[in-house]
Amino acid sequence: MDTTINIEALKKDPGPTKLFIGGEFVDPMSGASFGVTNPATGEKLAEVAAADARDVDRAVVAARVAFDGGPWPKMSAGDRGKLLWRLGELLEKHQQEFAAVEALNNGKTFREAARGDVGSAVDLLYYYAGWPTKIHGETIPVGGPFLNYTLREPVGVCGQITPWNYPTLMAVQKIAPALACGNTVVLKPSELTPLTALRFAELCREAGVPPGVVNVVPGLGEPAGEALARHMDVDKIAFTGSTRVGRRLMVAAGESNLKRVSLELGGKSPLIVFADADLDKAVSACFWGIFSNKGEICSASSRLLVDKRVHDDFVAKLTAKAKALRVGDPFDPKSEMGAQVSTKQLERILGYVKSGVADGARVECGGERDTDGAKAKGAFMKPTIFTGVAPTMTIAQEEIFGPVLSVIPFENDAQAATIANGTVYGLAASIWTRDAGRALALAKQVRSGVVWVNLYNGFDSASPFGGVKQSGFGRECGAHSIDLYTQTKSVWVRLQA
Ligand code: NAD
Repeated sequence: MDTTINIEALKKDPGPTKLFIGGEFVDPMSGASFGVTNPATGEKLAEVAAADARDVDRAVVAARVAFDGGPWPKMSAGDRGKLLWRLGELLEKHQQEFAAVEALNNGKTFREAARGDVGSAVDLLYYYAGWPTKIHGETIPVGGPFLNYTLREPVGVCGQITPWNYPTLMAVQKIAPALACGNTVVLKPSELTPLTALRFAELCREAGVPPGVVNVVPGLGEPAGEALARHMDVDKIAFTGSTRVGRRLMVAAGESNLKRVSLELGGKSPLIVFADADLDKAVSACFWGIFSNKGEICSASSRLLVDKRVHDDFVAKLTAKAKALRVGDPFDPKSEMGAQVSTKQLERILGYVKSGVADGARVECGGERDTDGAKAKGAFMKPTIFTGVAPTMTIAQEEIFGPVLSVIPFENDAQAATIANGTVYGLAASIWTRDAGRALALAKQVRSGVVWVNLYNGFDSASPFGGVKQSGFGRECGAHSIDLYTQTKSVWVRLQA
Protein backbone atom coordinates (compact mmCIF):
# COMPACT_ATOMS: atom_id res chain seq x y z
CA MET A 1 0.00 0.00 0.00
CA ASP A 2 1.24 3.48 -0.89
CA THR A 3 1.64 5.29 2.43
CA THR A 4 3.30 8.43 1.08
CA ILE A 5 0.15 10.35 0.40
CA ASN A 6 0.53 14.05 -0.20
CA ILE A 7 -2.82 15.59 0.67
CA GLU A 8 -1.84 19.08 -0.53
CA ALA A 9 -0.87 17.66 -3.95
CA LEU A 10 -4.18 15.78 -4.16
CA LYS A 11 -6.08 18.97 -3.36
CA LYS A 12 -4.46 20.57 -6.41
CA ASP A 13 -4.79 17.50 -8.62
CA PRO A 14 -7.33 14.95 -7.36
CA GLY A 15 -7.06 12.82 -10.54
CA PRO A 16 -8.71 12.55 -13.96
CA THR A 17 -11.69 14.82 -14.62
CA LYS A 18 -12.68 13.96 -18.20
CA LEU A 19 -15.14 11.35 -19.41
CA PHE A 20 -13.71 7.83 -19.80
CA ILE A 21 -15.05 6.31 -23.03
CA GLY A 22 -13.57 3.47 -25.09
CA GLY A 23 -10.44 3.34 -22.92
CA GLU A 24 -9.60 7.06 -23.31
CA PHE A 25 -10.22 10.21 -21.31
CA VAL A 26 -12.19 12.49 -23.62
CA ASP A 27 -13.94 15.86 -23.55
CA PRO A 28 -17.72 15.98 -23.49
CA MET A 29 -19.42 16.98 -26.77
CA SER A 30 -20.86 20.12 -25.21
CA GLY A 31 -17.62 21.13 -23.47
CA ALA A 32 -19.69 21.59 -20.28
CA SER A 33 -18.38 20.91 -16.79
CA PHE A 34 -19.44 21.17 -13.15
CA GLY A 35 -17.56 21.94 -9.96
CA VAL A 36 -17.00 19.54 -7.09
CA THR A 37 -16.34 20.79 -3.59
CA ASN A 38 -14.59 19.87 -0.38
CA PRO A 39 -17.52 20.03 2.07
CA ALA A 40 -15.23 20.32 5.10
CA THR A 41 -13.82 23.64 3.89
CA GLY A 42 -16.24 24.86 1.23
CA GLU A 43 -13.33 25.06 -1.21
CA LYS A 44 -13.64 23.95 -4.78
CA LEU A 45 -11.76 20.73 -5.45
CA ALA A 46 -12.08 20.21 -9.20
CA GLU A 47 -14.00 20.99 -12.36
CA VAL A 48 -15.33 17.78 -13.90
CA ALA A 49 -16.58 17.11 -17.44
CA ALA A 50 -20.38 16.88 -17.66
CA ALA A 51 -21.78 14.20 -19.94
CA ASP A 52 -25.03 14.77 -21.82
CA ALA A 53 -27.15 12.33 -23.83
CA ARG A 54 -24.72 12.40 -26.78
CA ASP A 55 -21.79 11.39 -24.56
CA VAL A 56 -23.84 8.66 -22.93
CA ASP A 57 -24.63 7.37 -26.39
CA ARG A 58 -20.91 7.34 -27.30
CA ALA A 59 -20.19 5.37 -24.14
CA VAL A 60 -23.00 2.88 -24.81
CA VAL A 61 -21.73 2.37 -28.38
CA ALA A 62 -18.20 1.73 -27.02
CA ALA A 63 -19.61 -0.73 -24.48
CA ARG A 64 -21.66 -2.52 -27.17
CA VAL A 65 -18.69 -2.82 -29.53
CA ALA A 66 -16.55 -4.21 -26.69
CA PHE A 67 -19.30 -6.66 -25.72
CA ASP A 68 -19.79 -7.98 -29.26
CA GLY A 69 -16.21 -8.20 -30.53
CA GLY A 70 -12.54 -7.70 -29.72
CA PRO A 71 -10.69 -9.34 -26.84
CA TRP A 72 -13.41 -9.20 -24.15
CA PRO A 73 -15.88 -11.88 -25.34
CA LYS A 74 -12.91 -14.11 -26.30
CA MET A 75 -11.24 -13.83 -22.91
CA SER A 76 -11.40 -17.04 -20.85
CA ALA A 77 -13.20 -17.06 -17.52
CA GLY A 78 -9.89 -17.71 -15.78
CA ASP A 79 -8.30 -14.67 -17.39
CA ARG A 80 -11.28 -12.51 -16.40
CA GLY A 81 -10.70 -13.65 -12.84
CA LYS A 82 -7.01 -12.73 -13.02
CA LEU A 83 -7.95 -9.30 -14.35
CA LEU A 84 -10.23 -8.69 -11.37
CA TRP A 85 -7.51 -9.86 -9.00
CA ARG A 86 -5.07 -7.43 -10.63
CA LEU A 87 -7.60 -4.64 -10.19
CA GLY A 88 -7.88 -5.59 -6.52
CA GLU A 89 -4.10 -5.37 -6.16
CA LEU A 90 -4.00 -1.99 -7.89
CA LEU A 91 -6.78 -0.52 -5.76
CA GLU A 92 -5.10 -1.87 -2.63
CA LYS A 93 -1.83 -0.29 -3.71
CA HIS A 94 -3.61 3.05 -4.09
CA GLN A 95 -5.93 2.61 -1.10
CA GLN A 96 -4.60 5.63 0.79
CA GLU A 97 -4.81 7.88 -2.25
CA PHE A 98 -8.42 6.84 -2.95
CA ALA A 99 -9.29 7.28 0.73
CA ALA A 100 -7.77 10.75 0.75
CA VAL A 101 -9.77 11.80 -2.32
CA GLU A 102 -12.96 10.41 -0.72
CA ALA A 103 -12.25 12.33 2.48
CA LEU A 104 -11.58 15.51 0.47
CA ASN A 105 -14.65 15.15 -1.72
CA ASN A 106 -17.23 13.48 0.53
CA GLY A 107 -16.25 14.91 3.93
CA LYS A 108 -16.05 11.52 5.68
CA THR A 109 -13.07 10.87 7.90
CA PHE A 110 -9.97 9.51 6.21
CA ARG A 111 -10.09 6.49 8.52
CA GLU A 112 -13.67 5.64 7.48
CA ALA A 113 -12.80 6.17 3.82
CA ALA A 114 -9.77 3.87 3.97
CA ARG A 115 -11.54 1.06 5.80
CA GLY A 116 -15.27 1.09 5.03
CA ASP A 117 -15.22 2.60 1.56
CA VAL A 118 -11.99 1.73 -0.28
CA GLY A 119 -11.03 -1.28 1.89
CA SER A 120 -14.41 -2.92 1.29
CA ALA A 121 -14.04 -2.26 -2.45
CA VAL A 122 -10.65 -4.01 -2.50
CA ASP A 123 -12.21 -6.98 -0.75
CA LEU A 124 -15.03 -7.13 -3.33
CA LEU A 125 -12.55 -7.21 -6.22
CA TYR A 126 -10.67 -10.14 -4.68
CA TYR A 127 -13.96 -11.87 -3.92
CA TYR A 128 -15.34 -11.53 -7.47
CA ALA A 129 -11.97 -12.56 -8.97
CA GLY A 130 -12.88 -16.07 -7.82
CA TRP A 131 -16.26 -16.15 -9.54
CA PRO A 132 -15.77 -16.25 -13.36
CA THR A 133 -14.65 -19.89 -13.33
CA LYS A 134 -17.62 -20.92 -11.19
CA ILE A 135 -20.42 -19.53 -13.37
CA HIS A 136 -21.94 -22.35 -15.38
CA GLY A 137 -25.22 -23.82 -16.52
CA GLU A 138 -26.88 -27.17 -15.90
CA THR A 139 -28.03 -30.26 -17.76
CA ILE A 140 -31.76 -30.97 -17.46
CA PRO A 141 -33.29 -34.47 -17.70
CA VAL A 142 -36.09 -33.58 -20.17
CA GLY A 143 -38.37 -36.18 -21.75
CA GLY A 144 -37.73 -37.42 -25.29
CA PRO A 145 -34.58 -37.92 -27.36
CA PHE A 146 -33.10 -34.59 -26.43
CA LEU A 147 -30.18 -33.07 -24.62
CA ASN A 148 -31.24 -29.90 -22.81
CA TYR A 149 -28.66 -27.72 -21.15
CA THR A 150 -28.45 -24.11 -20.03
CA LEU A 151 -25.83 -21.43 -20.58
CA ARG A 152 -25.33 -18.65 -18.03
CA GLU A 153 -24.65 -15.67 -20.26
CA PRO A 154 -23.81 -12.06 -19.49
CA VAL A 155 -26.73 -9.63 -19.74
CA GLY A 156 -24.91 -7.24 -22.10
CA VAL A 157 -24.33 -3.50 -21.69
CA CYS A 158 -24.99 -2.54 -18.07
CA GLY A 159 -25.83 1.04 -17.06
CA GLN A 160 -24.83 1.66 -13.45
CA ILE A 161 -25.82 4.75 -11.47
CA THR A 162 -24.27 5.37 -8.05
CA PRO A 163 -24.73 7.78 -5.10
CA TRP A 164 -22.26 9.93 -3.17
CA ASN A 165 -22.07 8.29 0.24
CA TYR A 166 -19.61 5.46 -0.57
CA PRO A 167 -18.30 6.51 -3.98
CA THR A 168 -15.53 3.90 -4.43
CA LEU A 169 -17.44 1.04 -2.83
CA MET A 170 -20.68 1.69 -4.74
CA ALA A 171 -18.83 1.81 -8.09
CA VAL A 172 -16.85 -1.37 -7.41
CA GLN A 173 -19.87 -3.19 -5.97
CA LYS A 174 -21.47 -2.76 -9.39
CA ILE A 175 -18.47 -3.04 -11.74
CA ALA A 176 -16.80 -6.12 -10.19
CA PRO A 177 -19.68 -8.62 -10.54
CA ALA A 178 -20.63 -7.19 -13.95
CA LEU A 179 -17.11 -7.90 -15.25
CA ALA A 180 -16.93 -11.28 -13.52
CA CYS A 181 -19.95 -12.32 -15.62
CA GLY A 182 -18.53 -10.91 -18.88
CA ASN A 183 -20.69 -7.78 -19.23
CA THR A 184 -19.58 -4.32 -20.28
CA VAL A 185 -20.36 -1.23 -18.23
CA VAL A 186 -21.30 2.44 -18.49
CA LEU A 187 -21.11 3.93 -14.99
CA LYS A 188 -22.56 7.29 -14.03
CA PRO A 189 -21.24 8.34 -10.63
CA SER A 190 -22.90 10.97 -8.47
CA GLU A 191 -22.24 14.54 -9.57
CA LEU A 192 -21.15 15.32 -5.99
CA THR A 193 -18.38 12.69 -5.87
CA PRO A 194 -17.28 11.60 -9.37
CA LEU A 195 -13.50 11.64 -8.84
CA THR A 196 -12.70 8.15 -7.58
CA ALA A 197 -14.82 6.46 -10.26
CA LEU A 198 -12.72 8.23 -12.90
CA ARG A 199 -9.50 7.26 -11.15
CA PHE A 200 -10.77 3.68 -10.91
CA ALA A 201 -11.35 3.73 -14.69
CA GLU A 202 -7.67 4.63 -15.03
CA LEU A 203 -6.76 1.63 -12.89
CA CYS A 204 -8.95 -0.56 -15.12
CA ARG A 205 -6.87 0.54 -18.10
CA GLU A 206 -3.65 -0.12 -16.18
CA ALA A 207 -4.86 -3.60 -15.19
CA GLY A 208 -5.52 -4.45 -18.85
CA VAL A 209 -9.32 -4.20 -19.02
CA PRO A 210 -9.92 -3.90 -22.80
CA PRO A 211 -11.14 -0.52 -24.16
CA GLY A 212 -14.91 -0.04 -23.97
CA VAL A 213 -15.47 -2.66 -21.25
CA VAL A 214 -15.63 -0.01 -18.50
CA ASN A 215 -16.81 3.52 -19.36
CA VAL A 216 -17.42 6.31 -16.85
CA VAL A 217 -19.63 9.29 -17.67
CA PRO A 218 -19.87 11.82 -14.83
CA GLY A 219 -22.75 14.24 -15.14
CA LEU A 220 -26.03 15.34 -13.63
CA GLY A 221 -28.91 12.97 -12.99
CA GLU A 222 -30.59 14.79 -15.80
CA PRO A 223 -29.44 14.60 -18.55
CA ALA A 224 -26.74 11.91 -18.05
CA GLY A 225 -28.46 9.40 -15.72
CA GLU A 226 -31.80 9.81 -17.47
CA ALA A 227 -30.17 9.22 -20.90
CA LEU A 228 -28.60 6.00 -19.65
CA ALA A 229 -31.90 4.79 -18.19
CA ARG A 230 -33.77 5.57 -21.42
CA HIS A 231 -31.12 4.28 -23.84
CA MET A 232 -32.48 1.64 -26.22
CA ASP A 233 -29.20 -0.31 -26.29
CA VAL A 234 -28.62 -0.59 -22.53
CA ASP A 235 -29.67 -4.05 -21.30
CA LYS A 236 -29.73 -3.42 -17.57
CA ILE A 237 -29.76 -0.58 -15.08
CA ALA A 238 -28.29 -1.13 -11.61
CA PHE A 239 -28.99 1.77 -9.28
CA THR A 240 -28.16 2.79 -5.75
CA GLY A 241 -29.74 6.01 -4.55
CA SER A 242 -33.02 7.53 -3.47
CA THR A 243 -36.45 5.99 -3.77
CA ARG A 244 -37.56 9.05 -5.75
CA VAL A 245 -35.01 8.42 -8.53
CA GLY A 246 -35.52 4.63 -8.35
CA ARG A 247 -39.17 5.21 -9.24
CA ARG A 248 -38.17 7.33 -12.25
CA LEU A 249 -35.76 4.66 -13.47
CA MET A 250 -38.51 2.05 -13.57
CA VAL A 251 -40.64 4.41 -15.63
CA ALA A 252 -37.69 5.09 -17.96
CA ALA A 253 -37.08 1.36 -18.41
CA GLY A 254 -40.76 0.76 -19.09
CA GLU A 255 -40.98 3.60 -21.58
CA SER A 256 -37.83 2.55 -23.48
CA ASN A 257 -36.67 -1.03 -24.09
CA LEU A 258 -37.91 -2.78 -20.90
CA LYS A 259 -34.32 -3.13 -19.71
CA ARG A 260 -34.03 -5.03 -16.46
CA VAL A 261 -33.66 -2.93 -13.32
CA SER A 262 -32.22 -3.55 -9.85
CA LEU A 263 -32.63 -0.94 -7.13
CA GLU A 264 -30.82 -0.38 -3.81
CA LEU A 265 -32.75 2.49 -2.24
CA GLY A 266 -33.15 4.30 1.04
CA GLY A 267 -34.09 3.08 4.49
CA LYS A 268 -35.38 3.98 7.95
CA SER A 269 -33.89 1.03 9.74
CA PRO A 270 -34.99 0.17 13.30
CA LEU A 271 -32.59 -0.93 16.02
CA ILE A 272 -34.78 -2.70 18.55
CA VAL A 273 -33.54 -3.00 22.13
CA PHE A 274 -35.27 -5.26 24.67
CA ALA A 275 -34.75 -4.87 28.40
CA ASP A 276 -32.86 -8.19 28.59
CA ALA A 277 -30.20 -7.11 26.07
CA ASP A 278 -26.54 -6.41 26.78
CA LEU A 279 -27.31 -2.71 27.03
CA ASP A 280 -23.74 -1.42 26.87
CA LYS A 281 -23.08 -3.28 23.63
CA ALA A 282 -26.42 -2.09 22.26
CA VAL A 283 -25.59 1.54 23.12
CA SER A 284 -22.32 1.27 21.26
CA ALA A 285 -23.94 -0.40 18.22
CA CYS A 286 -26.70 2.20 18.10
CA PHE A 287 -24.15 5.03 18.40
CA TRP A 288 -22.04 3.82 15.45
CA GLY A 289 -25.14 2.67 13.57
CA ILE A 290 -26.37 6.24 13.29
CA PHE A 291 -23.20 8.37 13.55
CA SER A 292 -20.67 6.48 11.39
CA ASN A 293 -20.19 8.02 7.94
CA LYS A 294 -22.10 11.01 9.52
CA GLY A 295 -25.37 9.14 9.21
CA GLU A 296 -25.12 9.15 5.42
CA ILE A 297 -25.63 5.41 5.21
CA CYS A 298 -28.65 3.79 3.62
CA SER A 299 -28.69 1.21 6.43
CA ALA A 300 -28.20 3.77 9.25
CA SER A 301 -29.98 2.80 12.49
CA SER A 302 -32.04 5.97 12.30
CA ARG A 303 -34.86 4.67 14.53
CA LEU A 304 -34.07 3.39 18.01
CA LEU A 305 -36.99 1.33 19.33
CA VAL A 306 -36.32 0.76 23.01
CA ASP A 307 -38.24 -1.10 25.74
CA LYS A 308 -39.73 1.62 27.89
CA ARG A 309 -38.40 -0.04 31.08
CA VAL A 310 -34.80 0.70 30.04
CA HIS A 311 -35.54 3.77 27.90
CA ASP A 312 -34.27 6.49 30.23
CA ASP A 313 -31.07 4.72 31.20
CA PHE A 314 -30.33 3.81 27.58
CA VAL A 315 -30.95 7.33 26.29
CA ALA A 316 -28.79 8.84 29.05
CA LYS A 317 -25.81 6.64 28.10
CA LEU A 318 -26.29 7.24 24.39
CA THR A 319 -26.64 10.99 24.80
CA ALA A 320 -23.49 11.19 26.91
CA LYS A 321 -21.56 9.41 24.15
CA ALA A 322 -23.06 11.62 21.44
CA LYS A 323 -22.13 14.79 23.33
CA ALA A 324 -18.54 13.54 23.56
CA LEU A 325 -18.30 12.60 19.88
CA ARG A 326 -15.52 14.54 18.14
CA VAL A 327 -16.74 16.23 14.97
CA GLY A 328 -14.01 17.77 12.85
CA ASP A 329 -11.41 17.80 10.10
CA PRO A 330 -11.67 14.49 8.20
CA PHE A 331 -7.86 14.19 8.20
CA ASP A 332 -7.44 14.73 11.94
CA PRO A 333 -6.99 11.21 13.39
CA LYS A 334 -8.94 12.33 16.47
CA SER A 335 -12.06 13.17 14.43
CA GLU A 336 -14.84 10.61 14.71
CA MET A 337 -17.30 12.34 12.38
CA GLY A 338 -16.50 14.52 9.37
CA ALA A 339 -18.59 16.96 7.31
CA GLN A 340 -21.92 16.24 5.63
CA VAL A 341 -21.49 15.82 1.89
CA SER A 342 -22.75 19.30 0.98
CA THR A 343 -24.33 22.43 2.38
CA LYS A 344 -27.54 21.42 0.63
CA GLN A 345 -27.54 18.08 2.45
CA LEU A 346 -26.84 19.88 5.74
CA GLU A 347 -29.81 22.18 5.12
CA ARG A 348 -32.00 19.19 4.35
CA ILE A 349 -31.00 17.61 7.67
CA LEU A 350 -31.66 20.86 9.55
CA GLY A 351 -35.08 21.02 7.88
CA TYR A 352 -35.90 17.61 9.40
CA VAL A 353 -34.68 18.80 12.80
CA LYS A 354 -37.07 21.73 12.54
CA SER A 355 -39.92 19.40 11.64
CA GLY A 356 -39.14 17.17 14.65
CA VAL A 357 -39.24 20.15 17.00
CA ALA A 358 -42.47 21.42 15.43
CA ASP A 359 -44.06 17.99 15.89
CA GLY A 360 -43.22 18.07 19.59
CA ALA A 361 -40.18 15.76 19.81
CA ARG A 362 -37.45 16.69 22.33
CA VAL A 363 -33.85 17.41 21.33
CA GLU A 364 -31.58 15.55 23.79
CA CYS A 365 -28.40 16.77 22.09
CA GLY A 366 -27.25 18.49 18.91
CA GLY A 367 -30.03 19.74 16.68
CA GLU A 368 -27.85 22.34 15.03
CA ARG A 369 -24.97 23.00 12.74
CA ASP A 370 -21.46 22.74 14.23
CA THR A 371 -19.72 26.06 13.59
CA ASP A 372 -16.96 25.73 16.14
CA GLY A 373 -13.65 27.23 14.87
CA ALA A 374 -12.64 26.14 11.36
CA LYS A 375 -15.82 24.08 11.12
CA ALA A 376 -17.74 27.28 10.40
CA LYS A 377 -16.52 27.07 6.80
CA GLY A 378 -17.76 23.54 6.27
CA ALA A 379 -20.99 21.51 6.35
CA PHE A 380 -20.63 20.11 9.88
CA MET A 381 -23.58 18.92 11.95
CA LYS A 382 -23.77 18.10 15.64
CA PRO A 383 -24.85 14.52 16.40
CA THR A 384 -28.53 14.75 17.22
CA ILE A 385 -30.86 12.62 19.32
CA PHE A 386 -34.63 13.12 19.49
CA THR A 387 -36.76 11.53 22.21
CA GLY A 388 -40.52 11.63 22.65
CA VAL A 389 -40.88 10.65 19.02
CA ALA A 390 -44.22 9.23 17.87
CA PRO A 391 -43.98 6.59 15.12
CA THR A 392 -46.07 8.74 12.80
CA MET A 393 -43.87 11.85 12.97
CA THR A 394 -41.96 12.83 9.83
CA ILE A 395 -38.62 12.26 11.61
CA ALA A 396 -39.74 8.67 12.31
CA GLN A 397 -40.96 8.04 8.78
CA GLU A 398 -38.64 9.73 6.28
CA GLU A 399 -35.01 9.05 5.57
CA ILE A 400 -32.96 11.99 6.90
CA PHE A 401 -29.56 10.69 5.73
CA GLY A 402 -27.67 12.50 8.44
CA PRO A 403 -26.59 12.07 12.10
CA VAL A 404 -30.12 12.30 13.52
CA LEU A 405 -31.61 9.56 15.68
CA SER A 406 -35.31 9.22 16.52
CA VAL A 407 -35.98 7.32 19.76
CA ILE A 408 -39.34 5.57 20.12
CA PRO A 409 -40.31 3.61 23.27
CA PHE A 410 -42.31 0.36 23.05
CA GLU A 411 -44.13 -1.80 25.62
CA ASN A 412 -44.05 -5.34 24.23
CA ASP A 413 -42.79 -7.53 21.35
CA ALA A 414 -45.91 -7.12 19.23
CA GLN A 415 -45.77 -3.34 19.47
CA ALA A 416 -42.05 -3.37 18.61
CA ALA A 417 -42.76 -5.37 15.46
CA THR A 418 -45.62 -3.10 14.43
CA ILE A 419 -43.53 0.05 14.83
CA ALA A 420 -40.52 -1.56 13.11
CA ASN A 421 -42.67 -2.38 10.07
CA GLY A 422 -44.53 0.93 10.11
CA THR A 423 -42.63 2.80 7.37
CA VAL A 424 -42.53 2.47 3.59
CA TYR A 425 -38.92 1.21 3.85
CA GLY A 426 -37.48 -2.23 4.53
CA LEU A 427 -33.71 -2.21 4.20
CA ALA A 428 -32.23 -3.36 7.51
CA ALA A 429 -33.20 -4.05 11.13
CA SER A 430 -31.34 -4.99 14.28
CA ILE A 431 -32.63 -6.88 17.32
CA TRP A 432 -30.97 -6.76 20.74
CA THR A 433 -31.96 -9.42 23.27
CA ARG A 434 -30.47 -12.39 25.14
CA ASP A 435 -33.60 -14.43 24.36
CA ALA A 436 -32.81 -16.41 21.18
CA GLY A 437 -36.43 -17.46 20.62
CA ARG A 438 -37.64 -13.88 20.78
CA ALA A 439 -34.88 -12.73 18.42
CA LEU A 440 -35.62 -15.42 15.83
CA ALA A 441 -39.37 -14.83 15.98
CA LEU A 442 -38.92 -11.10 15.44
CA ALA A 443 -36.27 -11.62 12.72
CA LYS A 444 -38.98 -13.48 10.81
CA GLN A 445 -41.64 -10.84 11.44
CA VAL A 446 -39.60 -7.80 10.46
CA ARG A 447 -39.99 -6.86 6.82
CA SER A 448 -36.46 -5.97 5.72
CA GLY A 449 -33.74 -7.31 3.44
CA VAL A 450 -31.20 -7.70 6.26
CA VAL A 451 -31.61 -8.47 9.97
CA TRP A 452 -28.76 -8.24 12.46
CA VAL A 453 -29.18 -9.94 15.85
CA ASN A 454 -26.97 -8.45 18.58
CA LEU A 455 -24.83 -6.62 16.02
CA TYR A 456 -25.19 -3.74 13.59
CA ASN A 457 -23.89 -3.10 10.07
CA GLY A 458 -22.51 -6.58 9.46
CA PHE A 459 -21.26 -6.66 5.85
CA ASP A 460 -19.27 -9.15 3.83
CA SER A 461 -18.54 -9.38 0.10
CA ALA A 462 -20.11 -12.86 0.15
CA SER A 463 -23.35 -11.91 1.94
CA PRO A 464 -26.40 -10.53 0.08
CA PHE A 465 -27.48 -6.95 0.70
CA GLY A 466 -30.63 -5.16 -0.46
CA GLY A 467 -34.12 -4.17 0.56
CA VAL A 468 -37.81 -4.96 0.41
CA LYS A 469 -40.80 -2.59 0.08
CA GLN A 470 -39.67 0.86 -1.10
CA SER A 471 -36.05 0.10 -0.20
CA GLY A 472 -35.82 -1.60 -3.59
CA PHE A 473 -35.31 -5.06 -5.02
CA GLY A 474 -32.46 -7.23 -6.20
CA ARG A 475 -29.60 -8.31 -3.94
CA GLU A 476 -26.00 -7.24 -4.39
CA CYS A 477 -22.84 -9.02 -3.19
CA GLY A 478 -22.16 -12.74 -3.03
CA ALA A 479 -23.73 -15.13 -5.51
CA HIS A 480 -26.73 -12.80 -5.73
CA SER A 481 -24.88 -10.26 -7.87
CA ILE A 482 -23.99 -13.09 -10.26
CA ASP A 483 -27.73 -13.66 -10.67
CA LEU A 484 -28.23 -9.95 -11.39
CA TYR A 485 -25.57 -9.89 -14.11
CA THR A 486 -26.32 -13.16 -15.95
CA GLN A 487 -29.24 -14.54 -17.89
CA THR A 488 -30.08 -18.15 -18.68
CA LYS A 489 -30.29 -19.59 -22.20
CA SER A 490 -31.89 -23.01 -22.62
CA VAL A 491 -30.43 -25.07 -25.49
CA TRP A 492 -32.23 -28.15 -26.89
CA VAL A 493 -30.44 -30.73 -29.06
CA ARG A 494 -32.14 -33.65 -30.84
CA LEU A 495 -30.09 -36.77 -30.16
CA GLN A 496 -31.61 -38.95 -32.92
CA ALA A 497 -31.88 -37.81 -36.54
P1 NAD B 1 -30.04 10.28 -5.66
O1 NAD B 1 -31.10 9.28 -5.93
O2 NAD B 1 -30.40 11.69 -5.65
O3 NAD B 1 -28.87 10.11 -6.74
C1 NAD B 1 -28.28 8.87 -7.00
C2 NAD B 1 -27.76 8.87 -8.41
O4 NAD B 1 -28.85 8.99 -9.30
C3 NAD B 1 -26.80 10.02 -8.73
O5 NAD B 1 -25.76 9.53 -9.56
C4 NAD B 1 -27.69 10.98 -9.50
O6 NAD B 1 -27.00 11.80 -10.41
C5 NAD B 1 -28.59 10.01 -10.25
N1 NAD B 1 -29.85 10.59 -10.72
C6 NAD B 1 -30.53 11.64 -10.22
N2 NAD B 1 -31.64 11.88 -10.97
C7 NAD B 1 -31.65 10.95 -11.95
C8 NAD B 1 -32.53 10.66 -13.02
N3 NAD B 1 -33.64 11.39 -13.25
N4 NAD B 1 -32.25 9.62 -13.84
C9 NAD B 1 -31.15 8.87 -13.63
N5 NAD B 1 -30.26 9.10 -12.65
C10 NAD B 1 -30.51 10.12 -11.81
O7 NAD B 1 -29.37 9.78 -4.31
P2 NAD B 1 -28.12 10.41 -3.57
O8 NAD B 1 -28.59 11.70 -3.01
O9 NAD B 1 -26.91 10.39 -4.43
O10 NAD B 1 -27.85 9.33 -2.45
C11 NAD B 1 -28.59 9.28 -1.30
C12 NAD B 1 -29.67 8.23 -1.42
O11 NAD B 1 -29.12 6.97 -1.81
C13 NAD B 1 -30.32 7.97 -0.09
O12 NAD B 1 -31.71 7.96 -0.25
C14 NAD B 1 -29.81 6.60 0.32
O13 NAD B 1 -30.60 5.87 1.15
C15 NAD B 1 -29.59 5.93 -0.97
N6 NAD B 1 -28.57 4.89 -0.84
C16 NAD B 1 -28.97 3.59 -0.80
C17 NAD B 1 -28.04 2.57 -0.66
C18 NAD B 1 -28.46 1.12 -0.64
O14 NAD B 1 -27.61 0.26 -0.76
N7 NAD B 1 -29.71 0.79 -0.51
C19 NAD B 1 -26.69 2.89 -0.56
C20 NAD B 1 -26.31 4.23 -0.60
C21 NAD B 1 -27.27 5.22 -0.75
